Formats: sequence, C-alpha cells, structure tokens
Amino acid sequence: MIRIANPMLGEEEKNAVMEVLESGMLVQGPRVEEFEKKFARYIGTEHAIATSSGTTALYLALLALGVGPGDEVITTPFSFIATANAILFCGAKPVFVDIDSKTFNINPDRIEEKITGRTKAIIPVHLYGHPSDMDPIIEIARKHRLKILEDSAQAHGAEYNGQKVGSIGDCAAFSFYATKNMITGEGGMVTTNDEKIAEKIRKLRNHGQSKTYEHETLGYNLRMTDIQAAIGLVQLKKLDALNEIRIKNAEYLTKNLKGIVQTPHVSSHAKHVFHQYTIKTENRDELLKKLNDAGIGARVYYPKPIHKQPLYQKMGYNDFLPVAEEASKKVLSLPIHPALKKEDLNLIVDTIKGIV
Ligand SMILES: *Cc1c(COP(=O)(O)O)cnc(C)c1O
Repeated sequence: MIRIANPMLGEEEKNAVMEVLESGMLVQGPRVEEFEKKFARYIGTEHAIATSSGTTALYLALLALGVGPGDEVITTPFSFIATANAILFCGAKPVFVDIDSKTFNINPDRIEEKITGRTKAIIPVHLYGHPSDMDPIIEIARKHRLKILEDSAQAHGAEYNGQKVGSIGDCAAFSFYATKNMITGEGGMVTTNDEKIAEKIRKLRNHGQSKTYEHETLGYNLRMTDIQAAIGLVQLKKLDALNEIRIKNAEYLTKNLKGIVQTPHVSSHAKHVFHQYTIKTENRDELLKKLNDAGIGARVYYPKPIHKQPLYQKMGYNDFLPVAEEASKKVLSLPIHPALKKEDLNLIVDTIKGIV
C-alpha cells in the first residue's frame, strides 16, 4: 500500500526525545523556548508561541485578537473543521465565503459582501500548501478594520510573493499533527509580530499566569511538552529539504498527468509546498475506489464542506456555496509525501492512465 502520508522520523528525532527523557524534565521548558525562537526566525516573525495543537493555536489566536460572543469571523467552508470550530469555541459565528475554483482557497472577490457591523476577523486557509491570495485580503481587512489570522496548518514554508505564510496577517496558526509537512505528533504554534498578541497567548496557554501562581485572567493548559519540541527542532531543520522533495514529486506527477486529470494550479505569486497533491476529476469516486484497490492510498480532503456538516446544519447553516460544494465532489488527493520512490510515482501515473 502506498500511504497518503508517511511521517519522516529518524535517528535524530529518537535521540532528541531520549535526551529529554533522560533529563527528567518533560513539560514546557528549554526545548519549547528554543523551538519557538527557531520557528519564529524561520517564518520571519518576532514571536512564536507553541501550543498543544493546531486547533488550540487557532483558538488562542482568536482569543488574543479579541474575538468573542456576538462577533462574526469570515472564513472558507473548504477546510478541516478545526478552522471554523475555533470560531465557535470563542462564542463567535463563522461566516463562510465561497472558494476559488483553481486554488480551492477563499475567493477574495466574495469577502466584502459578507462583511457586517459584527465582522471582526478573516481566517484565510492556505489549503493543501498553496497560499491564499493575501494582497486583496489585506486590502479588505484594512478598509474594514478587520484582523487576519492565517490558518497555516498545511503550509509550513509556503510563500506568497516571496514572503513566508504565517508572517503576513496579524497572526497565524500552524499544526504539527503527524501528517503535516513537519510534525511533533500533536502540537501547534502561533506566529505574530505583535508583542501584545504574543503576551496574551503565553498567558492563556498557561492558566492566565503572569508569574508563578499569579493568575491575571482565565487561562487554560494548552502547552507543548519538551518532548514534542525536541522532535520539532529536528523536523524544522529538515523542512526545506522535505518540501523540495514534495515539490519535485508534484512536478513529476503534473508532467505525466496533465491533460488526463485537472492537475493542481500554482499561482504566479505562490510557492506551493504540496501538503496535498489534489487533482479534480468528474468520476472522482470511481477513480478513488480503483486507486485504493490498486494499493494507492488516495483520499478525499474534504468530502463535505464545513457548512454541510451535521453540526453546522443543526445550527441552521443553509448557505449555497457552489464552488466549494462542487470541489468536495470532484477533488482527490494523491500520495505526494517525501518517502515516495520513483516506482511509487510511476505506479500512481500508470494506474490513473489505465483508468481514465
Ligand atoms: C490540521 C489542521 C488544523 C488543526 O490542527 P491540529 O493540530 O490537528 O489540531 C487546522 N486547520 C487546518 C487547515 C488543518 O489542516
């Protein structure tokens, strides 16, 4: 079976974890601090704050931006559910804007019509590793005094006009879940240039503590452990090289599949880091089944847009977002991870050519 994801962990990660275990200091400590410093430097922001997951990074970022009950936050319906649920956690309302049919990211042309007096922020998602079109989003945010939180969970190292995603909006959330481009098992990070946002998140993730046993606000335990950070430090060193292999794999698939299926679009402003290699095809379900039968772990991200999820239907969402709804019926992600061999890529190509 050619799997859809393959965690790239080696001796260096094992040794880094063993060092932490042998130190006897497992919780948030020096490794987390070092990981934050190095991740901030890599993304190009002043601050990075490690959290327990990408989901909690999104949640804490929204709280730090001041999002609360009664507020509306604009986002895409075509993402992992965590993007929108983080808005619900704050007591605010997700407002969905349809996507661009080529990049599958939020369509900036459709944002302004959804802005109301309650709109507080926009969460663009850099889906599959392709950056959202940030310039028009920034312009809209400035005009309407909205905050921008970049959901960068799938886009470590991706760039928009030469600038790393995660350094463009007011803040950004990353995930290091086990299938992402860099991993710590579970884990997340908020990046920002805003000292106040960074300070708020540091407090919120640690019981609202300003100093030991001095609790200023209601906070949580959403910390990262030094075990995870030790893995993250090794993974960060490998990230660029692993992304380059993803990009090479994608180029190979595109060269061989062009004209047979709709291959991924890469905008002129974009460095796409191919968290997923996602094609579009009319007979998606048939292709999916035949690929799986042939031992190729193709998968659909995402078969149901967020506004169509039972949770959101029960809340009364009845939006018609045709581009996202069509995408959910036609997209298919093929294995693209750095552990693939040439023969794996050729099997994927030959199998698709044999079916279509
Ligand atoms: C993975 C992911 C998240 C959530 O990250 P976790 O670490 O799994 O909590 C949020 N948004 C997107 C787009 C993701 O892909």
